[in-house]
Amino acid sequence: MSTQTLTYACKIKNLDRVADALDRMGLACSKLWNVALYHTRQVWSETGEIPSAYDTQKAVQDHYWYKRLPTHTAQAVTQELWQAYKSWFGHRRNGNPKARPPRYRKRNGEVSPSTITFKRSGFRLGGTALRLSRGKTVAAETGEQFLFLELAIPPEADASDPRQVRLVPCNGGWEAHLVCEVSVATELPGEGVASVDVGIINLATVAYSNGTTELYSGRGLLAQEYYFAKEIAKCKPADWRPGSRKKAASERERKLHRKRTQRRRQFLHAATRHIVNTCIEKGIGTIVLGDLKGIRQQASGESRNHGKVGNLKLHAWPFDTFVQMLTYKAKLAGITIIRVSERNTSRTCSICGYLNANSRVHRGLYICSECGATINADVNGAVNILHKYLQGLEKASTVNSAKPSTGVSVRVGDLPTVWPEPLVNRYDWGKPNPFWPRGGERPGGTACLQ
Ligand SMILES: [Zn+2]
Repeated sequence: MSTQTLTYACKIKNLDRVADALDRMGLACSKLWNVALYHTRQVWSETGEIPSAYDTQKAVQDHYWYKRLPTHTAQAVTQELWQAYKSWFGHRRNGNPKARPPRYRKRNGEVSPSTITFKRSGFRLGGTALRLSRGKTVAAETGEQFLFLELAIPPEADASDPRQVRLVPCNGGWEAHLVCEVSVATELPGEGVASVDVGIINLATVAYSNGTTELYSGRGLLAQEYYFAKEIAKCKPADWRPGSRKKAASERERKLHRKRTQRRRQFLHAATRHIVNTCIEKGIGTIVLGDLKGIRQQASGESRNHGKVGNLKLHAWPFDTFVQMLTYKAKLAGITIIRVSERNTSRTCSICGYLNANSRVHRGLYICSECGATINADVNGAVNILHKYLQGLEKASTVNSAKPSTGVSVRVGDLPTVWPEPLVNRYDWGKPNPFWPRGGERPGGTACLQ
């Protein structure tokens, strides 16, 4: 049976009672990280080599901060440091100039708590009650061997047997993350293909190989983003500028950040869930995603100009979260996710194939200077991504003569030349399942046409 690792973020219901203990433990993790990093840098400058996680652990295991933590939790810190070095080496090898080596966990001279990892032997989960070991030293001092947390586990979570628990600092408080192995559907829902173009005004535009398109309006999220940006700005001192030295956030500001994250997640969960359900229903076995690098940067390296709305929110826009959520939900359903380069997909006419160097997009419409077609710009992008992927497959199959087993039965020739108007899904904040079919409508048919 195939499985996938999923992480469920859970609120801690009795946070006010356990926050102090978690703060102390999280602080010990940061301090231990700094101690281990200091050691690693020493060894590196003396020998020119990075010590292994095991050697680092041996070197710091008598340290004060090591002993303030349960053994497995302390080991997780040294392992994490080792991972951080490994990933930095990897980035450097790939020529990423922005990669930086692991740094001390310190901000403005102050050490703040970091994530606390508990391995299987360090916790027990019974229903929603989580019991955490405090470690020998702290247990002896306080007379309390365990810390008891009451979790709000998401109802759809399959969290009976987590492999790991992570306590994560989050907006001044803590969140419990349960890392679980979940079984994955082993059969593809079908041999169809869907492509997804990700954007701002339209969060996602999906072209299905059965000849339909749907789009997910991002305006519901955008309105929220504006609201929170405005309210958070009000909490800052009058002389505050982006990048100015950080002051401790007020309680209200922290609450706003929390609320914003929660709203984003709610929105993105609903949208990705709806896309995956529609794919299952339409027999889609492969989802092709435009490579999102194109959203933040053009091939030339210049920032892409999205107009007033786009530029304002571009950097805060949660594309990565969207992709992550879509990927894991698709995987659970047995759907393969493939990334293709978005290069030229927004500048090519999906009807005649002409590449407009200076494509005109007016009010969300792509206007082709060659054939005169006007198409919804995002639908045009999604259809082009689909074309690109299928053409790639066909090319590969003629080169290899034997048809590769891709689980795809569609060819470019099967697709419509002119695609129908997209079905528009809007987000309704008031409803428990805002993108859900209501009153016996077919899934995906909940939205009105523009
Ligand atoms: Zn054209």
